[in-house]
Amino acid sequence: MDLIVGVYRDASGKTPVMESVQEAERFLASAAESKSYRGLSGNLDFNDGIARFVLGSGHPALERQSTIQTVAGTGALRLIGDLIAKLSPQAKVWTTDPAYVNHLPIMAAAGLEVQTFPWRESETGLDFEAVVQALDGARAGDILLLHGCCHNPTGIDPSLEQWSAISRLCHDKGLIPFVDMAYQGFGDGVDADAAGLRLLAGEHEQMFVTLSCSKNMSLYCERTGAAMVIASEAGEAEKVRLSLEQIARANYSMPPNHGAAIAAYLFAHPEAWLKELEECRMRVCTNRQNLAAELKAIGAPEKFQCLERQKGMFSLLPLSSSQIERLRDEFAIYGAIGGRINVAGLGTQQIPLLADALKRVFD
Ligand code: PMP
Repeated sequence: MDLIVGVYRDASGKTPVMESVQEAERFLASAAESKSYRGLSGNLDFNDGIARFVLGSGHPALERQSTIQTVAGTGALRLIGDLIAKLSPQAKVWTTDPAYVNHLPIMAAAGLEVQTFPWRESETGLDFEAVVQALDGARAGDILLLHGCCHNPTGIDPSLEQWSAISRLCHDKGLIPFVDMAYQGFGDGVDADAAGLRLLAGEHEQMFVTLSCSKNMSLYCERTGAAMVIASEAGEAEKVRLSLEQIARANYSMPPNHGAAIAAYLFAHPEAWLKELEECRMRVCTNRQNLAAELKAIGAPEKFQCLERQKGMFSLLPLSSSQIERLRDEFAIYGAIGGRINVAGLGTQQIPLLADALKRVFD
């Protein structure tokens, strides 16, 4: 059982091209627009569409932000990392422990110092006390790198009250929020998933956002994403956009257009795409609920019930490294190092097998 891979899979184990994406591609082929160079900010319709998608139309921060298309979410992370290194090289980036596997390497490659704060379960959800305690060591001007939703690898998301407390903490300590949004639409729905980010954007004069269309449009290999900077006012945001363009120019110059053109089409004609995305989300939620229910039914340890309240494609199973080894050696169940499993990678018939194996490694 391969639960390592970091992509969505349907019930037949495939990662299909969405029908709405195929429709957009048919349109783009028939429109046959020029392949001439675009600007350094990439596809402007895409930039506008993704900014409205993440912030929600009508959000006041839309007036004081700049968004530029990047080489997917990874490219956006690097661009923002480079920008931070240019603007305030002394700033430390605080990232969750455990973290998305590429957060630390990208920020370190940009020349920034990285520190961690714990991101773990309490009895009811995120252990917020542990976050606050660790961030006691953060200094004004440091950057707080958070996952917008569906935390990778743990699946632990803050409640809205906790987002509010994070916002206050940033104000009190002078920290700048940086939200990496790679799974909007896979947790509680496209708007609910962005609620924390929208709250921070409304309450902070400065904020960084990185965005990816890899998962929610299933555009993985098209490398489609964006970097957004929110500033105190429109003129400031425009200045920062020019800095971002300079960094992009010295790196890859312009991002590729095809994925962004697809995404721009989907933002302009969202119905079919959002319906498909909702189907993916429901599949992940159903897998979670079924696995948690099966574990309960067979009397597995109570701590596995956290699976049910966690969000998105991943969960970090409460297993020791020797239990993870036993899963592999005795049951041929492969999760990532540390116990991360891709819940979307589970076939319906695999759920009872996984639940049984999870119980047995505790026997
Ligand atoms: N951020 C997080 C938290 C991720 O999990 C990922 C992909 N797994 C990314 C960013 C980058 O994704 P991509 O470069 O494919 O857009």
